[in-house]
Amino acid sequence: MNFDNCRDCGQTIRWANKQDGKSMPIDPAPSRHGYIRLASENGVDRAIILRGQRLFRARAEGEKLYQSHVTTCEAREQEAS
Ligand SMILES: [Zn+2]
Repeated sequence: MNFDNCRDCGQTIRWANKQDGKSMPIDPAPSRHGYIRLASENGVDRAIILRGQRLFRARAEGEKLYQSHVTTCEAREQEAS
């Protein structure tokens, strides 16, 4: 596992690779608002973003899901999307 500290708020984060290969900061604790499945592949943490039915099913089955730290970071202003 690849732990680090957020350079904006100092909170512990984990780095995981998205499907496109870019790394993404993840909150280390699962959340009931989570939508990211963490999987380990050859020692690399992968972040799989769940949507729609896949997300619904994973939550219904009680799977531990995680949030991107970008959405929870208290030091960062929420960007309008
Ligand atoms: Zn932060």
